[in-house]
Amino acid sequence: MGHHFGDRPMLIGGAFTTGQDWITSVNPATEEEIGRVPAGTAEDVNRAVEAAAKAQPGWNARSIWERAALLRKVAAGFRARAQEILTMEASDTGNTIGKLRADVEIAAGYLEYFAGLASEMKGETVPATPKGIHFTLREPFGVVARIVPFNHPFMFAGAHLAAPLTAGNTVVIKTPETSPLSGHLLAQVCHEFLPPGVVNIVSGYGLPVGDTLVRHPLIRRIGFTGSVATGLAIQRAAAEVAVKHVTLELGGKNPLIVFPDADVEKAVDAAVAGMNFSWAGQSCGSTSRLLVHESLYDRAVELTRAKVAALKLGDPLDSTSEMGPVNSAGHYKRVMGFIEKGKSEGGKLLTGGGRPKGEMFKRGFWIEPTVFADMTPDMTVAREEIFGPVMSIGKFKTVDEAVAIANATEYGLTTSLFTNDITLALSTAKRIETGVVAINGSAMHHIGLPFGGARNSGLGGEECLEELLSYTQVKSVHVLM
Ligand code: NAD
Repeated sequence: MGHHFGDRPMLIGGAFTTGQDWITSVNPATEEEIGRVPAGTAEDVNRAVEAAAKAQPGWNARSIWERAALLRKVAAGFRARAQEILTMEASDTGNTIGKLRADVEIAAGYLEYFAGLASEMKGETVPATPKGIHFTLREPFGVVARIVPFNHPFMFAGAHLAAPLTAGNTVVIKTPETSPLSGHLLAQVCHEFLPPGVVNIVSGYGLPVGDTLVRHPLIRRIGFTGSVATGLAIQRAAAEVAVKHVTLELGGKNPLIVFPDADVEKAVDAAVAGMNFSWAGQSCGSTSRLLVHESLYDRAVELTRAKVAALKLGDPLDSTSEMGPVNSAGHYKRVMGFIEKGKSEGGKLLTGGGRPKGEMFKRGFWIEPTVFADMTPDMTVAREEIFGPVMSIGKFKTVDEAVAIANATEYGLTTSLFTNDITLALSTAKRIETGVVAINGSAMHHIGLPFGGARNSGLGGEECLEELLSYTQVKSVHVLM
């Protein structure tokens, strides 16, 4: 521990920019101050959008392969600075560095993936009249806003550049107000390899920075990753100003269902791995609801308790640590509030439930990995996204009951099913309203397949061709002869 990263300016129109006010970032493991970013203003946002608008025609005038080559350079720039990025990111987020290493590779991988897909931004020809030629073109929106959450700020900001830039848009990124420091390293790499104004990075709070960005008249396309409440606020704000194309990657309360024929040990392993304790459960895809057939319930409860209780909490920069603190003081209070609700609403606390014991956990936002059993669908911990190291286990008797419980929240991000009965697996997959279903594994991201939510978990699939196309708008052209 003990890193200090100093002041980390924003990138606006190719210039590193500070301001009057700052946001001080603390290491969530120690509460030590580790650096600052400017608290951006509405004026900063306006300048960033204008710079992006000025750069966009030149960026779009390059061939797709020229743009692709530059994106590959940015990807290589991420890899070249991976250690620096990861040290900063683990210190600023509390995510443990062992698993976090994948984040730089994922961000670089998406830049390369979308660069390679560039020629798939194809149109169609339609034989609409006997003599004419009728076809479609895909064109960029212009300036795209991408707004990023705190759980993987570098990975999301880096990966989310790829599709809009490939499509010929320029981008303004808004980094999260907690864990904002790595946005500056992203800015440095973009500054090194891309023309000024093509990527602009503004730090600050939701109000005014996020809101001003969403409402800016030159922003016609918004890609948001974050909570349902903010997603709804963004849709409302956008709609007050103009018709804007908004995609949303929001929260989840993801069930993992264990049917009676399943290998219960494998299922519990997948549930605990899927919880993403490496980032203290702060993952939209966390398998936070384990639903087990009554015949396997007691065994699943004991296996889960033992596995979760054995997790090694420690310094996020130590590659043997399996879990760090939660991200911020505010989030600590929120997660602890859910744990208290779990206790008061009759959940059976199997392990965890408070601040871990030991000298190193006296300061910082540490919460024990926590498991509640005897969860019923009406309990708050079974219904609401906690976005923390808290999982709950409930039981079911029939398939219909399992499906009903799985569908009993506002969310619809992922589902995981454990069974060797292919008919049961596929028929259940069709009945559960989530955007992603995994059978005999916990649901994850696979490049090329849409990741996105149904219901209040979101709008639009990402990490696939659909994401690239969603950063284009279609124009029909009719050649009449
Ligand atoms: P959040 O919604 O509080 O904040 C996300 C971002 O939105 C931040 O940068 C914030 O400053 C900004 N923001 C806040 N108010 C705004 C406004 N009015 N207008 C514009 N921007 C505004 O979310 P969070 O707490 O940072 O992240 C946690 C949430 O993100 C969880 O719900 C999690 O499930 C979700 N998430 C989803 C995915 C996914 O792919 N589905 C991935 C990661 C996180």
